[in-house]
Amino acid sequence: MPQILDGNRVRDEIKAELKPRIEALAGRAAPPGLAVVLVGNNPASEIYVRNKIKACHDLGIYSESITPPGSISTEELLAIVRDLNRRAEIDGILVQVPLPSQVDTKRVLLEVSPEKDVDGFHPCNVGRLVAALPGPRACTPAGILELLKRYRIPIAGKRSVVVGRSDIVGKPVALLLLQQHATVTICHSKTPDLPAVCREADILVAAMGRAAMITSDYIKQGATVIDVGTNRLDTREDVARIFRNSPQKLASFDKRGSVVVGDVHPLDVAEKASAYTPVPGGVGPLTIAMLMFNTVAAAERRAGIC
Ligand code: NAP
Repeated sequence: MPQILDGNRVRDEIKAELKPRIEALAGRAAPPGLAVVLVGNNPASEIYVRNKIKACHDLGIYSESITPPGSISTEELLAIVRDLNRRAEIDGILVQVPLPSQVDTKRVLLEVSPEKDVDGFHPCNVGRLVAALPGPRACTPAGILELLKRYRIPIAGKRSVVVGRSDIVGKPVALLLLQQHATVTICHSKTPDLPAVCREADILVAAMGRAAMITSDYIKQGATVIDVGTNRLDTREDVARIFRNSPQKLASFDKRGSVVVGDVHPLDVAEKASAYTPVPGGVGPLTIAMLMFNTVAAAERRAGIC
C-alpha cells in the first residue's frame, strides 16, 4: 500500500510548533500581525482570505483585512501598500491575486516591502531563494518541502521532475528541491514526450492546473508523487470518467454539484506510487500553514529574536 502524505497532519504539527513562538512574541512586544488586501468581490479569493484570517485568529496572530472596491486604481492600491509598509504592528502583507485588470499587479507586488513579503514573491526574496540565502519562501513550495521532510522522503541524489514553471509553484519548488540536492528537471506545456520525462522521476511534482492529467504512464513504479493541482469537475460525465464510476464520488457530485480533483489521476497514482499527496488533504492545507510560518518569522526578525 502506498503511503498517503497527509497535509492536514503536517499543517497541525506546524501550527502547534508556531504557538509558543507566537506567545513569546506577544509576551515580549506584540503578537505577529498580518494584513490581507482583498480587492473587489472575487468569490474564490474571498474564501481564501477568510481561511487565512481564521488561521490567524486560531493562532493568536493579529490580522486585518483591507477590502477596497474592484474599481480601485493602481495608485490608490500603492498608497494602501505603502501605508502598511510603514505600520510597525504589521509584519506581513499579502495582496490577494488576481487583481482587477486596470491594476498593474507587478507594480503593486513590487511595492510590498521585502521584509513584509510573507508570500515570498518579491524579486528580492526570489533572489534570496536562488542564492540560498535565508528569507521567506513561497508558501505552497515551502509546504511541499516540509511535507517531504516530515515524512522522511529522501531528496538528496534523487531525480525530481516538476511539471509547471509558474513563479508561485513550479520554479520555487524546483529551486527548493535543487537546494536539497535533487537532480531537477522542470517541464512545461512545450516539453516533448512529457510521460517519458516524468517516468524518470523519483519525486514527481505536478503543478499544471490540468485535471487528472498525470496518468499511470507518467509515473515510475515506487515514485513519490506530489499533486499541487486543485481542479473542480463540474459535470457528472467527468466525475464518472475520472473516478471510474465510483459510487461515492458520484454521490458527492450529486450532493454538491462538483468534485475536486488534482493534476494527478487519483486512482492511477495509488497503484504506482510509493507515497503521494491526496487531493484534497495533501498540499492544500500546507499553504496557509506556511503563510503563518512566514508571518511569525517576519515578526521574530522585527523583534530581533532571529
Ligand atoms: P499556472 O500559473 O497556470 O502555471 C501552469 C503551468 O503548467 C505552466 O508552466 C504551464 O506551462 C504548465 N502546463 C499547463 N498545461 C500543461 C501541459 N498540458 N503539459 C505540461 N505543462 C503544462 O498555474 P499555478 O498557479 O502554478 O497552479 C498550478 C495548479 O496548482 C493549479 O491547479 C492551482 O489551482 C494549483 N495551486 C494549488 C495551491 C495549493 O495551495 N494547493 C497553490 C497554488 C496553486 P507553460 O508555462 O508552458 O504555459
